[in-house]
Amino acid sequence: AKESGGGQFSFYEPEMDEKIERRRQLGAELHGALERGEFQLVFQPIFRLADERITSCEVLLRWTNRRFGAVSPAEFIPIAEDSGQIVEIGSWVLFQACQAARDWPAGISIAVNLSPIQLRSANLPAVVARALDQSGLPAGRLQLEVTESVLLEDVDASIAALEALNRIGVCTTLDDFGTGYSSLSYLTRFPFQTIKIDRSFISDLDRSPASIAIVQTVVDLAAKLGMRTVAEGIETEAQLAQLRRTRCDAVQGYLLAKPMPANMVGAMLAGDALE
Ligand code: C2E
Ligand code: CA
Ligand code: CA
Ligand code: CA
Repeated sequence: AKESGGGQFSFYEPEMDEKIERRRQLGAELHGALERGEFQLVFQPIFRLADERITSCEVLLRWTNRRFGAVSPAEFIPIAEDSGQIVEIGSWVLFQACQAARDWPAGISIAVNLSPIQLRSANLPAVVARALDQSGLPAGRLQLEVTESVLLEDVDASIAALEALNRIGVCTTLDDFGTGYSSLSYLTRFPFQTIKIDRSFISDLDRSPASIAIVQTVVDLAAKLGMRTVAEGIETEAQLAQLRRTRCDAVQGYLLAKPMPANMVGAMLAGDALE
């Protein structure tokens, strides 16, 4: 800390400058990243607990930059959101994802993450409809995942956007449930078909009675409201056993399958369908 003019301390953190500089450079590298073919999609299977078959796959975006190498979505998505580039990148993901899923067995759907910026964009339903049209994927096989934090900023607009997606036949999923500030009562206001229970509740499921109670409450409430539940981030057999007891509909996590490239997931789905 250095003493500044008014006798107050200002904190100078070199790491802070480095972070800002890295963020700036990543933002610059995001320009042209699509054209340079630096993005790749990976797919993580989601399994129904009733019969242990794959019900859908979540698409996760990967970026390998010419200068920075592999950059995690947790780092670059917020940068792309701030610059607005997420709209173009998000549309690309949607088109590629629908195209990949078209070749899968008919019962398997695809789950695509939507940025709040995309949800707020007026032409989202048109972009989604075009992705479905061009790929030939039936609307009922596309699920769009939205995180809870964005919904409360403008409740009426969020409901309208989700309803517009439902109207073209696309299913909506409330992602990361439990991490935001919304109360359970909000669930009844938003038109979601699926609730995805956040990994933070799953990770201490085998040692925390509170987490067990929370997950059970969410699963029971969702069932009463006619919604499906998916638990994410399953890493241990104990967590899986506990989720079976709660009668959660579906599970996703490293224990069952890691995110994988299109050709590998295609082979896995073909094998699963023949069994
Ligand atoms: P998310 O939507 O909650 O996705 C789940 C994240 O958990 C993924 O991280 C996935 O690889 C990871 N995961 C899956 N199973 C396990 C597990 O058993 N244990 C642990 N520890 N992690 C697990 P990833 O791929 O790094 O993505 C991070 C976040 O970046 C995503 O969180 C999502 O919010 C965002 N993201 C990824 N792809 C896209 C995209 O195409 N569009 C948008 N808007 N956001 C994306
Ligand atoms: Ca997600
Ligand atoms: Ca999630
Ligand atoms: Ca998340």
